Amino acid sequence: MNPSHIEHIGIAVKNLEESIKFYEEVFGLECYAIEEIKDQKVKTAFFKVGQTKIELLESTDTEGPIGKFLEKRGEGIHHIAFAVKDIENKLQEIAEKGVRLIDQKSRKGAEGLDIAFLHPKSTFGVLTEICEDKSVNSE
Ligand code: ZN
Repeated sequence: MNPSHIEHIGIAVKNLEESIKFYEEVFGLECYAIEEIKDQKVKTAFFKVGQTKIELLESTDTEGPIGKFLEKRGEGIHHIAFAVKDIENKLQEIAEKGVRLIDQKSRKGAEGLDIAFLHPKSTFGVLTEICEDKSVNSE
């Protein structure tokens, strides 16, 4: 799929405010955006480390994907997202290689990115996202 870089690392946290404080005070990073993604039942906070972002994920509903993850596995790394170009074709290529997909088609994620998840059963236990910033790639 030839990713250009790791776009972000998603970290599930119980308390967004406390974890933001940690990244600001200990790492000296600046939270530049907080966004609620209603259909994912999640509230996110973003930090930049070079061109890679840290995406903190707090659940807004125990029945949502992050709520379930926290209950099952506790806080920690939730997913890794790779930046790709031409996400629809990449998804098809990946599926043709026998990798199980969670999303057969890309959808809108945080920050207006087009995103899709690969199934952790096909990726050695790591929930893997591919994403494309079409506002950049179409320039
Ligand atoms: Zn993500």
